Amino acid sequence: TGAFSPEAARKDVPILHRTVNGHPLVWLDNGATTQKPRQVIEAVSAYYSAANSNIHRGAHTMAREATELYEAGRNAVAQFLGAPSPDTIMFVRGTTEAINLVAQSWGRAHLGPGDDILVPVLEHHSDIVPWQLIAEETRARVVPVPLTPDGEIDQAAYADLLSARTQMVVVSQASNVLGTVPPVREMTALAHRYGAKVLVDGAQAVAHMPVDVQELGADFYAFSGHKLFAPTGIGALYATPEAMAEMRPWQGGGNMIESVSFERTTFAAMPHMMEAGTGHISGVVGLLAAIDWLRGFDQNAVAAYEQQLMTYAMQAMATVPDVEVIGSAAERIAVLTFTMAGHDPASIADWLDRDGIAVRAGHHCAQPALAHYGLESAARASFALYNTSDEVDQLVASLRRLGQSGQSGQPGQGAPAQQA
Ligand code: PMP
Repeated sequence: TGAFSPEAARKDVPILHRTVNGHPLVWLDNGATTQKPRQVIEAVSAYYSAANSNIHRGAHTMAREATELYEAGRNAVAQFLGAPSPDTIMFVRGTTEAINLVAQSWGRAHLGPGDDILVPVLEHHSDIVPWQLIAEETRARVVPVPLTPDGEIDQAAYADLLSARTQMVVVSQASNVLGTVPPVREMTALAHRYGAKVLVDGAQAVAHMPVDVQELGADFYAFSGHKLFAPTGIGALYATPEAMAEMRPWQGGGNMIESVSFERTTFAAMPHMMEAGTGHISGVVGLLAAIDWLRGFDQNAVAAYEQQLMTYAMQAMATVPDVEVIGSAAERIAVLTFTMAGHDPASIADWLDRDGIAVRAGHHCAQPALAHYGLESAARASFALYNTSDEVDQLVASLRRLGQSGQSGQPGQGAPAQQA
């Protein structure tokens, strides 16, 4: 593990050196997706140049090599998450697929009429909608956990809503809208007293804080590789052996079986039972390289740097007339969602884009959370380890110029934001 500096990280990420609209790119849309270090790009390229093969089934050298790489990726993810064994890790497309997998494979077998699934109002749509779909099928209920006025999950209300009916609690380790970090450990401990399972959504957490799924008490933990400097289309789902024992197959096909006959088909052991068909092998290779890259830096130094950058950004934003950052200033990751009086969020993003600054505008896939603030849309700057205080200064300077420009709240030309 080496020392950390944002400059060292930046040097590894080629895209950060391009220009946008005649300006050096300032990438502040890390909450949507992170940029990729050349170590990741090269690992994927090397895999396709020299090592491409399907895995598991082939009885030749390259199939064995690809299988070893794939399983090395599983091992790296397990270590990265503090999981007890690689057998607790399933590869998926990303957080969204992981949650749908749990809803379909665990939920369909376990939920029934009168059962509750608790979901805080703060959550991303992918923590809500898969449960609505399975609840409709099983006649279970999705119960919202309200927020306090300052946007924290209302812990007293959560305690009141938990009951013997509660089968599942879903909570993000860090919010993609407010960046807030709820007391997940306490929430899982409380849920377990009622025999409920807890799915922790780590999409926004993994790039910003050390994760230990066992310490969190998560029964399930999901994340997306692309928010962790890895390619799109690959992610992972952790489940405890106890939770895994309660999961039924959700997709059928090759890889996930032990033997097939028209009379009786038997299934492969976990985690393979959840991985029907050919997986995203090059994605796993990229994810492995991304984890190696990130772990090359002192993780505590990265977290401390991001906190410092965030404090700097909060203070700088507070000096811009008409800008309001939403969410409490308590523990939060490097996500800064804001509005600017007199300016539509889409037009803010358009204005910043002309200066080469990429931020997100829209509902951030969390309409209930924004509705809590009486908003339909907001702008969001989200930082990663390669961002600098100089970039914060550019954001703030551009917003000041917007304030002075006399331009006002016409919706921008950009497409309405969908992703978060
Ligand atoms: N949960 C949270 C908290 C997120 O921020 C995101 C991505 N915006 C997701 C889930 C969905 O991730 P993906 O689109 O990679 O599946």
